[in-house]
Amino acid sequence: LDAARAEGERTYALDRAHVFHSWSAQEQITPMTILASEGSYVWDGAGNRMLDFSSQLVNTNIGHQHPKVVAAIQDQAAKLCTIAPQYANDARSEAARLIAERTPGDLNKVFFTNGGADANEHAVRMARLHTGRYKVLSRYRSYHGGTDTAINLTGDPRRWPNDYGNSGVVHFHGPFLYRSQFHSENEQQETERALEHLDQLIRLEGPNSIAAIVLESVPGTAGIMVPPPGYMAGVREICDRYGIVFIADEVMSGFGRTGKWFAIDHFGVVPDLITFAKGVNSGYVPLGGVAISEKIAATFANRPYPGGLTYSGHPLATAAAVATITAMEDERIVENAARIGSEILGPGLRGLADRHPSIGEVRGLGVFWAIELVADRATKEPLAPYGASSPAMNEVIAACKASGLLPFANFNRIHAVPPCTVTEAEVREGLAILDSVLDIADAHRNS
Ligand code: PLP
Repeated sequence: LDAARAEGERTYALDRAHVFHSWSAQEQITPMTILASEGSYVWDGAGNRMLDFSSQLVNTNIGHQHPKVVAAIQDQAAKLCTIAPQYANDARSEAARLIAERTPGDLNKVFFTNGGADANEHAVRMARLHTGRYKVLSRYRSYHGGTDTAINLTGDPRRWPNDYGNSGVVHFHGPFLYRSQFHSENEQQETERALEHLDQLIRLEGPNSIAAIVLESVPGTAGIMVPPPGYMAGVREICDRYGIVFIADEVMSGFGRTGKWFAIDHFGVVPDLITFAKGVNSGYVPLGGVAISEKIAATFANRPYPGGLTYSGHPLATAAAVATITAMEDERIVENAARIGSEILGPGLRGLADRHPSIGEVRGLGVFWAIELVADRATKEPLAPYGASSPAMNEVIAACKASGLLPFANFNRIHAVPPCTVTEAEVREGLAILDSVLDIADAHRNS
């Protein structure tokens, strides 16, 4: 244990000396050290075991260190570590087949990228070239990645310092009944009014200038707002009416997270392009991509697609995807996510809302849940303002960690997003920790 602690301390010191971290003021962060992980757990630099209710950045859908995926990466490394994208390769071919077999409709071709942001970059590029149009619509309260086009698609404050006014992206309000922009009182109204708003925005912006609508099938980081019945079908109809490409961002919601292979499957809708990353191989090796419909693939049948990357369909990454998807199928991991969500995690979180007045809303499906913490249930005043943290939220998060739970937190929300492999006992362990720390949030309510 002493050796492990010494290693943890050295790791932390070197990190602070030399590692430049994402999204952060470098002098204001104290990164937790993690040296080992297995299943639903990670171990911090002091050797403490923590239940990973974040799946890191909601990517370890198959859990940590799944032995079949680890073995597949080791085997592939021994066989062929890397090969340029212009060559056909068995790992890449097989991964593309397994993905195309699971995407809905005729999304039968796959362009591989290194992650989610570049998947969205390429999806937008394909849509622009396919339509000959430039503008792209995306919703407020969304996250689409950190690269130039992707961060401008994003509807959260991280876009602001990256927006030079020339991205061609126009934002709209998606459905979110709890904080409705449309004064809706029920889901049906929210669907109708959000669709009317989108349709009007398109008519005002000029339908013939709009290449694509990009939507997370279920917005993730922005708050896990499951679209109400009819909304996604309505977006499909609007896209068809105006010749707009429908891009479903499934980077976080795909590969079992919602209890189906893709979240869009809950709505019976077939988009023109699906972007994916994270769960495709649980992030064991960086991988993302775009699943492409026949119609859009045909645009590039006899005209070169002007885009590529050295590691497109990297063998280690795609071998990991083959092993991940195969293990998820064999071990019925997507079914586990669905059952855990409907029988244990969803009801358990709703039970917490009965006991804790700081919970304003519980929402989600599968192993994809958010609890929205409020200072006042009547006014819905959030426990941290939009785009920021607060002492109350920081205390709740610190208490989670001190109690052995790693949460995913954003503004005034705690997300319960364990691996799709999580067991009933592990979920109950996480719920019990949340139950104890939410007393802190309750105490921070307005008096
Ligand atoms: N799209 C969504 C919905 C995401 O949640 C993310 C990452 O969190 C991305 C895109 C960007 O993916 P990456 O970080 O792999 O570039």
